[in-house]
Amino acid sequence: MTITYEYEGALYVNLTNRCDCACVFCLRHNGHKGSIYADDLWLEHEPTVEEALADFARRDLLSYREIVFCGFGEPIYRLDAICAIVDALKAACPALPPVRINTNGHGNLIHGRDVTPELAGRIDTVSVSLNGSSAEEYLAVTQPRDGAAAWEAMLDFTRKAARQVPKVVMTVVDKDKTPGEIQRCRDLAQSLGATLRVRAYIPD
Ligand code: SF4
Repeated sequence: MTITYEYEGALYVNLTNRCDCACVFCLRHNGHKGSIYADDLWLEHEPTVEEALADFARRDLLSYREIVFCGFGEPIYRLDAICAIVDALKAACPALPPVRINTNGHGNLIHGRDVTPELAGRIDTVSVSLNGSSAEEYLAVTQPRDGAAAWEAMLDFTRKAARQVPKVVMTVVDKDKTPGEIQRCRDLAQSLGATLRVRAYIPD
């Protein structure tokens, strides 16, 4: 099974297929087994910390520009494992490349506590999927298990993460977005201490 994989000079880490959203564009739907990044990202089981570290041991970590916890799911379900893995990697490799987590921003909702302090000193960049310029648009696109609470939780997580890690980015895909909607996303991100990254739409 694919635990780590390379893409454009970065090393991506796949620790879970769980997610509390059902985004309309999610590649996990429609029989996809992987993404543009790797062929098969469905896990036979969630890898243990030991299994993940054994996979990392096959890699030349210093050769990557970044290590990205991404997953074919929401990586923050595996927060404890992420922390343990990063701690072990930093201990073994003090010059570890920057570490990023790509998340839907529901970590505090999922775990029922503020988990952002646990990111401090471990994660260099948090990238939060914003997906929409309003709660209505966000909920329609991401279809979160917890409904409107997930929008508020995502905003609050982003604000708190920005106090804990050096860089917080929010992302939107440009498809069907007007310049006004993009500007609202940019203003929202800035109000939370984040910067907006507009991603180009990649057709399915
Ligand atoms: S948050 Fe990510 S993994 Fe979860 S449904 Fe949306 S695109 Fe898929």
